[in-house]
Order: sequence, then structure tokens, then C-alpha cells
Amino acid sequence: MNHQHAHEVVIIGGGAAGLLLAGQLHDHGVHVALVEPHDLHTEVQGAWKARTVALTPASVDLLDRLGFDWSHCRHSRYRTVLIEDADAPTTLRFAAAELGQAFLGVLVELNRLNAGLVHCIQVRDLPVYRQPAVRLHADRRLELGDGTILHGQLLVATDGAQSWLRQQTTIQQSILDYGQSALIAVVETDRPHQGRAWQRFTDGYTLAFLPLGDELSCAYSMVWSLPGSQAQALVQCPWLELRSTLQRSMAEELGQVLTIYDQGLYPLVARHALRYHEGNIVLVGDAAHTIHPLAGQGLNLGLTDIRVLIEELMRARRRGLPLEHASVLGRYQRRRIGDNALMQGSMTVLQDLMAERHPLWRVARGQGWKWIERQPWLKSWMVEWAVQ
Ligand SMILES: Cc1cc2nc3c(=O)[nH]c(=O)nc-3n(C[C@H](O)[C@H](O)[C@H](O)COP(=O)(O)OP(=O)(O)OC[C@H]3O[C@@H](n4cnc5c(N)ncnc54)[C@H](O)[C@@H]3O)c2cc1C
Repeated sequence: MNHQHAHEVVIIGGGAAGLLLAGQLHDHGVHVALVEPHDLHTEVQGAWKARTVALTPASVDLLDRLGFDWSHCRHSRYRTVLIEDADAPTTLRFAAAELGQAFLGVLVELNRLNAGLVHCIQVRDLPVYRQPAVRLHADRRLELGDGTILHGQLLVATDGAQSWLRQQTTIQQSILDYGQSALIAVVETDRPHQGRAWQRFTDGYTLAFLPLGDELSCAYSMVWSLPGSQAQALVQCPWLELRSTLQRSMAEELGQVLTIYDQGLYPLVARHALRYHEGNIVLVGDAAHTIHPLAGQGLNLGLTDIRVLIEELMRARRRGLPLEHASVLGRYQRRRIGDNALMQGSMTVLQDLMAERHPLWRVARGQGWKWIERQPWLKSWMVEWAVQ
């Protein structure tokens, strides 16, 4: 006979979003369980990993509230971001101190972030089912790979961009293929990065160098968004050729490239669910939306979803409403769908503006760049919008 278990909330997917949500709901007194088929590691060792996420101060605050132990998770708090347009002579410089911020972001390797979150889950001793969710019965019982049946008052999809749970609903999504891939790698140069992040736009393609480790470290996480075929060719070319192409494309002040390793390729697609809930199912994080990584916002948006969802669930509790009530999930959707669409749209517009090659437009862009650099209020506003 199949084992059957009942929980108030069942979270499907134990990536960063699912892990954080599980811990936070537990702390709010919700009887929550997590479903994740892959091994959950608390210890990660070894060389730098290229797959990183830049977290905003608001996301860092959410992790802090969970008791996330940064001392066991190497990371860098960067205070300066330099942004260049290959056609403009001016570099936009965002410095935390000048903009009234303690730091602009924290860069962390994704596997270490997840390991730290797994630790937070383990100390809370909440139920984790190490099986994939494979079937949603008509009466909303959830079946796992080993036949276990879960009853969840609310089912949360945090199972990523290809969300299995979303596919069990009638929720459609808009899809925009950027025709680009992100080539990622760890790049070590001969110069310490001093906690600075650097990004250059060239004809709409972006090359970002994000600082790994402390200010004296010379290691960067590189994210290079390029046309898919070009990114594929670069990942396959001999390393000397890759090194010289990269060296030509990056700023001189980053130094001479010494090593490149842990390369990976990610096709870039923006997706957005047209609704965030159906019945007792609600979508969160990449299951609801994915975005171009040029502003490093994907997971940050997911973590904001979590903050808002928890606020709405707690409000429902205070009012005696069931957690899965349509008005509760509707409020969550209303508070998030517009902001996520705005961020996604802004990335697409920025991408198009930076890709425009008409000579007059290039001159205008250069002038605009110079003007923005001289407007502290505008830079402050841009940072506040990006880090909220
Ligand atoms: C190159 C690149 C750079 C990026 N940089 C940044 C950045 O700087 N800042 C930022 O905020 N974001 C960034 N992002 C986005 C960020 O990485 C993602 O938004 C985030 O990792 C998504 O987390 P998630 O928990 O929603 O989904 P995922 O990490 O995809 O987790 C989904 C989980 O669900 C599980 N799962 C899947 N199917 C099932 C099933 N049937 N049953 C049970 N479990 C299941 C999977 O095993 C997985 O563990 C970047 C993305 C890319 C590609």
C-alpha cells in the first residue's frame, strides 16, 4: 500500500526558491513539506564555480532572516559596478557609498548558496521527500516517483523553468527566445578585482565580469551573452583562441587573462506565466518567469515572489481564510505579475536599445550615456529600482 501524508503546504522543487520558501514558511508556523529528487548537499568544496548569482540587498536580507550562515558560504559583497557601451566614451560608475548603499550586491556560487539553504532546512527538521513529483490526481493528490501520496492544502511550484507542476495546469506562458546563449566561465587574471563588477555592451551583447572572493582575489565569474552559434563556437574553440578573443573584448584594467575554466552554456529565453495560480497550485520563481541575465535579476525576482506570497498567506491566516483561497492567491498574483513583467520588459527594451546599430543612434547613445553619468539622482534611482 502507498504511504500517504498530509501537509498544509507542499513545495515541489528544492532549488534556491523552494528551499528558502520552505524554511520561511516553517518559521511562520506552517506545516510544510518539500519535494526534491536530487541529493541535497550541505558541504561543497573545490575550485570556483562559474554558475553564480548576484543577489540584491533585499534578497540578502531575506536570507539573513532565515539565519543563513554567510561565514560558511564564500561570497563577495561588491561595492562598485562599472558599465560600458563599446560605442560610448563614458563609463557609468555606480559606487555604493556615493549612492547611500552599504553594498550593491552579493555574488555567490549557486551550489554554495543552495548548500547553505539545505543546512537551514536540515536544522529545522522539516519533511523532505527525495522523489520527483510524477502525477497529479484529479482530486489534487500528488503522487511521487516511489508511489508516495501527498495531500497538500496548497501546492507550490518552485520546480524551475520547465516546471512539471505548471504543466499539470492550463496556465499558458509567453515565450521570447533571445536567440542568444550565455557562455559562463571562471576567469582568473593577473590583477585583483577590488570588489568591482564590470559589464560591457557591444551591439546588444553583454560581457560581465563579476568579482569572486575578497578584494584581493583575481577570480571572476564571467557571463557572456552572445548569439547562440557564436557562443557555441567559442566554447568549442582552443583555449588560446578563446583567451585572445576574450582579452580583446574586455577592459584593459581587468588585467591579463591567466586561466579560464568551468565553462558552460545557457540558451537565453524569457518566459512568463500568464497567470500565477490555478486551483490550489501557485507558481513561484523560475516556474513563473525567467529573464535575460544581463541585470542579474532572475532569482531576485523569485525571492521577492516568496516574500509577497508569505505576506499574503499570513494575512489569510489572520483572517481565517484557507491558504489556497482564490482571493489569497489572486492578491499574490496582482502584487507580483506586473512588477515581474515590467522587469522582464525593461530587460528586453534595454537589450534592443543597446543592439541598435544605426550610426546616429550610436552617437545619441554615447551622449545619453554621458548625461546619465552626470545625474547622481538618476543613478540613485536606477540602483534603488534594481536592488529593491
Ligand atoms: C547564466 C545565468 C546567470 C544568472 N545570473 C543571475 C544573477 O546574477 N542573479 C539572479 O538573481 N539570478 C540569476 N540567474 C537566474 C537564477 O539562476 C534562477 O532564477 C534561479 O536559479 C532559479 O531558481 P529556482 O529555485 O526558481 O529554480 P531551479 O534552481 O531551477 O530549481 C528547480 C528545482 O526543482 C526540482 N524539480 C524539477 N522537477 C521536479 C519534479 N517533477 N518534482 C520535484 N522537484 C522537481 C529540480 O530538481 C530543481 O532542484 C541566472 C541564470 C543564468 C542562466
